[in-house]
Formats: sequence, structure tokens, C-alpha cells
Amino acid sequence: MTLIKLHRVFVSITLLVLILCTVIPSVFAWKTSSVSSVTTTPSSSTSSQSQTQLMSLNSNNNNSETNNNKEDDDGGDGGTSSSSVSSVVGRLEQLKQREAELSRLLTAIRQDKLEVLRKRPLTIGIVGFGRFGQFIARTFAKHGRVVVTSRSDYTDIAQGMGVTYVPGLDIGQFLNENLDVIVIAVSIVSFEDTVTSLAPYLTARSQQQQCQPLIVDVLSVKEHPRNILLQYLPKECDIMCTHPMFGPDSGKNGWHGLNLVYERTRIDGIVLDPTKGCNHYSPSGSTKRKTYSASSSYSDDSSFVVDVEGSSHSIHEQSEAHIEGMDRMERFLSIWEEEGCRMVPLSCVEHDEYAANSQFITHLMGRILGTQGLSPTPIDTKGFESVLKLVGTTTADSFDLFYGLYKYNPNSMDTIKKLRSAMDDVVENLKAMEKTDK
Ligand code: NAP
Repeated sequence: MTLIKLHRVFVSITLLVLILCTVIPSVFAWKTSSVSSVTTTPSSSTSSQSQTQLMSLNSNNNNSETNNNKEDDDGGDGGTSSSSVSSVVGRLEQLKQREAELSRLLTAIRQDKLEVLRKRPLTIGIVGFGRFGQFIARTFAKHGRVVVTSRSDYTDIAQGMGVTYVPGLDIGQFLNENLDVIVIAVSIVSFEDTVTSLAPYLTARSQQQQCQPLIVDVLSVKEHPRNILLQYLPKECDIMCTHPMFGPDSGKNGWHGLNLVYERTRIDGIVLDPTKGCNHYSPSGSTKRKTYSASSSYSDDSSFVVDVEGSSHSIHEQSEAHIEGMDRMERFLSIWEEEGCRMVPLSCVEHDEYAANSQFITHLMGRILGTQGLSPTPIDTKGFESVLKLVGTTTADSFDLFYGLYKYNPNSMDTIKKLRSAMDDVVENLKAMEKTDK
């Protein structure tokens, strides 16, 4: 019995051992696998997380770049971080530097272009080849190519001077001559008609975007041509009003020391204030003309022009037409300067005030004395010789010119009245003295 019990116990233990030997390794194996699976899972999770973080970082970077760009575009909103503010400032600095470089390059190109232009002498057209037109053409021909046109046939005179003549005031043919400057030298009384016949050709050229010549008048009155030119010419035409205070008699031995009055009236569509900037004449100051170059601009305080509304325009304005227009005016003025003229920048209004009491009174006296039939005598004084000279020079000019001085200078009638009254006063003084002269 005891043996049977012992056998049962032995069998049970053996079974237990067997069970344990089978179960424990699998439990262990399960444990190991589950431990390894537990250790593996967190590791793969971390990797994907960092990948996500990286992506998110990238995305943040992208966003911040986008934001930066947006800030650049918007010019910043003032609420950004200090690093993005400094990046905006840095970018702005870069852009400014590039802008300055481009500006320097543009100035250099313009300078080169003007130098090329300057090497080509001006082609000057003259409308009106009468007494004064011929006088100026002769001198201009020394400085450039001259093309003239007039009502009458002056072919032979023009040929003798070496200038091209376009007969019969044929404006179309005249304008085909590639003119840089057109000087209008017709009589004062025919000036408006001449400009109104010229204007449609110039307007048509403007519409075809052709380069327009500088228009200059030389009339002995100034407000009248200024108003006419501004009224009729297309805005693409630059305008300069001039009055050479001399003519074929006083200038027959050269122009040295003779006055040229000028007003730069319109450049690149801007009507300039005639009393300011480059048009201002200071009697006490130097009369040396302010010179202009594309790089240095005016050499003194006239580095600006002022329009009639009071706005200042710097000659550095980004307008090629403005710079070229200025340069062309300077080149034209430099002809007079090279001939020795005294250059007088003056407004047209001021010119007419001065001229009524200087030029018009001279012509008036010459005409009055001319009607006296004066002639030289064997005992002429120097004073009388001057009177005869005055009669000679004033009556050599056409009566059209004298009439133009009277009609188109608003101050002329005042001068006549004062002269009449002065004549009466002088005669009264003589009579009064005679009464007391016993
Ligand atoms: P002017 O008698 O004033 O003008 C003569 C010129 O005008 C001629 O060329 C003439 O052409 C032209 N003309 C006259 N009537 C015309 C018309 N209906 N249509 C077209 N053209 C016409 O004498 P000027 O001395 O020669 O003076 C010319 C201009 O220069 C004037 O504006 C004058 O004020 C000015 N200016 C003269 C002097 C001077 O000392 N003489 C000085 C400074 C300024 P045709 O010959 O073909 O007919």
C-alpha cells in the first residue's frame, strides 16, 4: 500500500516537473517577446515622433519664411520679433544699395549719351530769313549746320553763307531736316500766324512720338511771343524766349559784350517760374551763366527749376527728356556765350518793362528825329554825329519792327505819354525863363 502511494507521488512529481519544463520556457519566451515588443514599440514611436517634429519644424520654418516674406511684402506690421525686424532692415539696406548702384549706372549712361550728343554739332533751323534772320544765320553757321526758310526767295544769299535754304516757308520739308533747334525770326506782327502754321506739323510729329526741336524766339518784345508759344505749341516742345539786344548794325563787328536776354520758358512740359531758379537775374551778382552738366548739374544754387505753381523741380529728376532738354538749351546758349555775349537771364515781363524805357524810347526818338530830315554838316559835333547815327540805325530797321515794339509791348504807350509830357515840360520851362529874362 505504502509502495503504491509512493509510486503515485513519484508519478505526480514527474508530471509536475514535465509540466513545469514545458510551461516555464514558453512563459519565459512569452515574457521575452513581450519585453522585446515593449522595448521595440517605444523606440519606433520616438522615431516617428521626431520625424513629425522635424516635419513640423520644417513646416514652422516654412511658415516663418512665408511670414517673413509676407512681412517683407507688407513692409512689416511692427509686431514681429526682433530677428524678423532686423531681417527686414537688412533686406531694405540691400535694396537701397542696389538702387544706388543702378542710379549711378544710369547717370554714367546719360553722361556718355550727352557726350556723344555734344560731339554732334546742333542743327539749327531759322524761320524768317530777313535782315535779322540772315544776321544770326551767318554766326550760327560757324557753330553747326543751319537750315533756313522764309516767304521770299533767298536761295542765293543762303548759298553764299553756306546754309541750306528751304524755299516758300515749306514747314513739312523744313522739319524733315532733323532740326535740334528752331529759331523764329519773323516780324513781331507776323509771329502769331507763323506759329499757328508751324504748330500742327509739330503736333503731328508729337503724335508719332518723334523727337521735338527746341523752339526759340528772338522777338524784340517778350511777353507776346511767350504767350503765343505756350498757347499753340504741343507740350513736347521745349521753349526758350530770347532777345539779342543788338542787331546787324550794333553787332556788325562781332557780338562781344552785347547783351543776350533769355528766359527758359518750358522744359519737358514744365512751365518754369520766370523769376526763380535758372531764370533769375541778379544785377549785383555775376552775370556769368550758370553752367549745366549731366553729372554736376548747375554749378550753383540753380540746381533746380521752379514751375509757375511754385513747385521746385530738381534737374536730377528721373526724366531723360528733362535732362536732354536742359542740355540742348545750354548748348544753344553756349553759342552766344562763345561769341562773347553778356548773358542776362530775365523774365519776359521784366524785359518788357525795361525795354519800353530803353529800346522803345530809342526807336521812338530815332523815328522822330528821322522825320526832321537831318543830314551831316561841315561843322558836326560829336553829339550831332550820335544823333545821326541813332537816326540811321533805328530807321534801318523795318517799320514793322517799330510798330511791333509799340503794339506788343504793353508799356510802350506809357513811354509815349511820358515823352510827350516831358517835351511839354521842357518847352514850358523855356517859356517861363524867357518871361523872366528881361
Ligand atoms: P522784321 O521786319 O521785323 O521781320 C522781317 C522778317 O519777317 C522776314 O524774315 C520776313 O520774311 C518775315 N515776315 C514778315 N511778314 C511775314 C509774314 N506775314 N509771314 C511770314 N513771314 C513774314 O525785320 P528783322 O529785322 O528781320 O526782324 C526779325 C525779328 O528779329 C523781329 O521779330 C525782331 O523783333 C527781331 N529782332 C530784330 C533785331 C534787329 O536789330 N533788327 C534785333 C533783335 C531782334 P521775308 O523776308 O521772307 O518776307
